[in-house]
Parts: sequence; structure tokens; C-alpha cells
Amino acid sequence: MKKLALVSLCCAFMLSLAASASEHEHVFGEWTPGENNMHTALCEECGEELSARHYTFTSKMGEASVSVCAACGQYQDGVLALIEGAQALSEKPTPSKQKGVFIARGLESPFAGDETIIYAFTAAYINNGELATWKDVSTVSLPLNIELPEDYQLVRVTPSAGDDSVQNPEKRTEMESSYEDGVLCFSTKTPALYLITGGEK
Ligand SMILES: [Zn+2]
Ligand SMILES: [Zn+2]
Repeated sequence: MKKLALVSLCCAFMLSLAASASEHEHVFGEWTPGENNMHTALCEECGEELSARHYTFTSKMGEASVSVCAACGQYQDGVLALIEGAQALSEKPTPSKQKGVFIARGLESPFAGDETIIYAFTAAYINNGELATWKDVSTVSLPLNIELPEDYQLVRVTPSAGDDSVQNPEKRTEMESSYEDGVLCFSTKTPALYLITGGEK
């Protein structure tokens, strides 16, 4: 599949913008479990506290299903790590006021049930207490710094939904993306679990 040259251009521009930004953006560290299914993280620079419920994205992996928390990254087999330097920048000329903090977490070869998945990550805005609505289509850039094959594919997982009478099966949507100098770039406004697949099937 063809990668979008435009996405890659946007990405380079965005990274240079980010480097020149001077105002304080909270950089939240790791999450510590608390009571009532909540957990908290502290800003490494100013000490501000963010607390949120565990919010999980689920996906079928062979026979099993996995649930990954968008904030702390915990799932059945381990923890997706914080992706340092992960960013989402609105593509609107006049960006909407976005609530919450953008958090992306990922891991290489995370699921024993499906070896075609090279990398998995979550991307979401976490507000105080919960997941925040992602307002604008944004260019997301993730410094993954891993090896990806030429023919890698980025997909977004839409979990299965419904009750016993109506079942919508899990859907995997192919996404346009670029991968240059170890940085993955793509457009989205959907908090979700994303998978990078590739290699021989
Ligand atoms: Zn701060
Ligand atoms: Zn969590």
C-alpha cells in the first residue's frame, strides 16, 4: 500500500514546531494504582496530579481477547510502555479546545496469540477521571525507533459491540501512514488500540 507523502511532510513540519514551543506542557510519568479502580500520574516537571479510571481497549487475538488500558498500558501479558515524545497536533487551521492529556503507549510483539502483530499502541486523551473526546483530526507522531518492514500496515481496531441479539464483530481499519527516521505519522481523531502488522502472513 502507498504511503502518503503529505502525512510525512506534515509530520516534519510539526516536529519543528514542537521543538520551538516554549510553554509548559505537562509530561506525566508512570501511573500508580489507587482505590476504586482509579490510578494517578504526576507531571514530571510541575508535580500536577492526573487521576483516571482504567480505560481499556479490547481486541481478539486468536481464541483469546486482550484488554489494554489507555492510561497505564496494563494488559493480560504485560504493560505497553509510554512512548516518549508522542504528539498529536490538530489539523484544523483553528484548533478546537482539547481537554485532557495526550497519551500514547506501545510495545513490540506484544501478543502471544498473534505473531503477525509487530507492534501495538494505544492513543487517547485522558482527562481527569476518564477518556476525553478527541476533538479534531490530528497528525499523530510517534517516535517508535524500531525496525519496520517495507510492507508494514497500520490498522485501527474497532472492538466488537452489541448484546446477544445484535453483534457487531471486531473491525480492523487500514490507515495511511508514514515511517521515517523511526517516527510513525498518521491522521486520526479516534482513541483506540492500533496495530502494526507486516511480514509474511
Ligand atoms: Zn506540569
Ligand atoms: Zn490503567
